[in-house]
Amino acid sequence: MEKRVEDSIVVAINYILTVDGEVLDSTDPDGASPLEYLHGVGQIIPGLEKALTGMELGQVKKVTISPEEGYGEFDPDAVVWLSREDFPESIPLELGIELELQDGDGEIQLATIVDVEDERIQVDMNHPLAGENLHFEVTIAGLREATEEELAHGHAHGAHSH
Ligand code: ZN
Repeated sequence: MEKRVEDSIVVAINYILTVDGEVLDSTDPDGASPLEYLHGVGQIIPGLEKALTGMELGQVKKVTISPEEGYGEFDPDAVVWLSREDFPESIPLELGIELELQDGDGEIQLATIVDVEDERIQVDMNHPLAGENLHFEVTIAGLREATEEELAHGHAHGAHSH
């Protein structure tokens, strides 16, 4: 039987991501290095995983994904003021600088500096694509069974396996 995109399959995709008419991200135009992911474990955004389910090798699809099934709605509560003293001196505290913050659970959270004052720094912890409609054009470039190890880890092991 022809393989299809389904749970426990490692899927290789080539894609072009467009937001507001602007190409924001894509795999190599020559298709030489597609993105590999393990289907069914939430390794990619939910809307894309859903849209790809059932597709066959070589199939192409255009899909628009709402914030709800993409990177979430923009959350005003995720824009917070922090004391300047909370930042290591090695970090340049300037508008637009992207940081990795560590929360109380040790989780790494990406944040962007959106305002700078003498005593305090405002950071936005929303995903840069939060609140955006994402337009993907996706081509299925490869389908294979996941290995036991990949299933145990919950992600695909590509060329740069660990
Ligand atoms: Zn692994």
